[in-house]
Amino acid sequence: MDARRDASRKKRKGRRSQTSKNSELPTLKTQRGKAESSSPPPHPKRRKVEPSSNSKSQPGFLEKMRMRLSGGHFRMLNEKLYTCNGTEAFNLFKDDPQLFNVYHAGYQEQMLHWPQQPVNLIIKWLKSHGSSLTVADFGCGNATLARNVKNKVFSIDLVSNDPSVIACDMAHTPLESTSVDVAVFCLSLMGTNYPNYLLEAKRVLKPSGWLLIAEVRSRFDPNNGGANPDKFCEAIEQLGLSLLSKDFSNKMFVMFYFKKTERSTKVKSIEWPELKPCIYKKR
Ligand code: SAH
Repeated sequence: MDARRDASRKKRKGRRSQTSKNSELPTLKTQRGKAESSSPPPHPKRRKVEPSSNSKSQPGFLEKMRMRLSGGHFRMLNEKLYTCNGTEAFNLFKDDPQLFNVYHAGYQEQMLHWPQQPVNLIIKWLKSHGSSLTVADFGCGNATLARNVKNKVFSIDLVSNDPSVIACDMAHTPLESTSVDVAVFCLSLMGTNYPNYLLEAKRVLKPSGWLLIAEVRSRFDPNNGGANPDKFCEAIEQLGLSLLSKDFSNKMFVMFYFKKTERSTKVKSIEWPELKPCIYKKR
């Protein structure tokens, strides 16, 4: 009788340790200091159920913890991308391409809270301007743009999980000079050397090509440490592109539409306003 009870206890123990080994989640400490794994709780019939409010809400708590950890990792990466230059960002992601997935999982989560996605406005704009326009999508992320239009799109980002994406620092792309009709920056002017990205866009744009920029609204709020949008547009005009229109109607982002002109400029003397990092709040 004792031996049978002992055998069944060992079997149960084995089953429990197996689930905890297979779990991907980290082992956490409970308030009482005991290690708690993410494996599901044992069957209630085989365990003395204590009248604790925690026992029911446990999976929710662990799931929340996991989201908090990955959310924290996303915010850290996001801040890094806004406070380093393109070369540093490229080396960071080249050394650990998994960071791209962590970044984009967090990015997509943040975007769910935006009533409108700027990339959808750009898709709409492209559809109304014709599929024959060749596009360069600087900082394409998951290449949403390329997947939603018929145009030829050169998708560019730091990492290419998708073989159609060109992996490089967008300050130096392999695109031919004067080869594209539209250059797009959708929430991607992140590096401290952002003027280099715009300079590269100007290089690859055909004469009369379009430059479309969607950026986080708070980065252009001078009352809140943001850049003066007029100064930003002036700097781009000096680069040799003229502002056709700007759209401040959206709560979360602003849009600028420029066209390349033939005007030559002294690029070195341009005064670029600093664009403050966009730090996402903890949710
Ligand atoms: N445009 C996409 C993704 C925006 S997130 C969309 O609207 O959905 C910003 C993207 O810019 C990220 O994928 C980031 O990896 C990319 N990025 C930032 N700095 C870059 C650089 N120097 N070179 C290439 N891509 C860059």
